[in-house]
Amino acid sequence: MSGGPGARYGPAPGRHGLHRIRICTRDRWRCGICGGRIDPDLSPFVSDMAGSVDHVWPRWAGGGHDDGNLQAAHLRCNLAKGRRLRFEMAA
Ligand SMILES: [Zn+2]
Repeated sequence: MSGGPGARYGPAPGRHGLHRIRICTRDRWRCGICGGRIDPDLSPFVSDMAGSVDHVWPRWAGGGHDDGNLQAAHLRCNLAKGRRLRFEMAA
């Protein structure tokens, strides 16, 4: 992995951050992938156990930005899911 936090976590962190808080609050800070609790105090820039917005149907596979396609997830779970799906789709 190369690049700073901005490169790892995508563009427009400010706007995305507000979105992240909104979705995580809606889902009561519970991870939609592993079911575990997400600590609202953790920043995604310092911990991969922080909350993130997961696209249930990934954007690269045509998933939309509507709330029905979004769920709260640990950053770590989110990234692991992304890698797994990419691998399965490529196989
Ligand atoms: Zn999780």
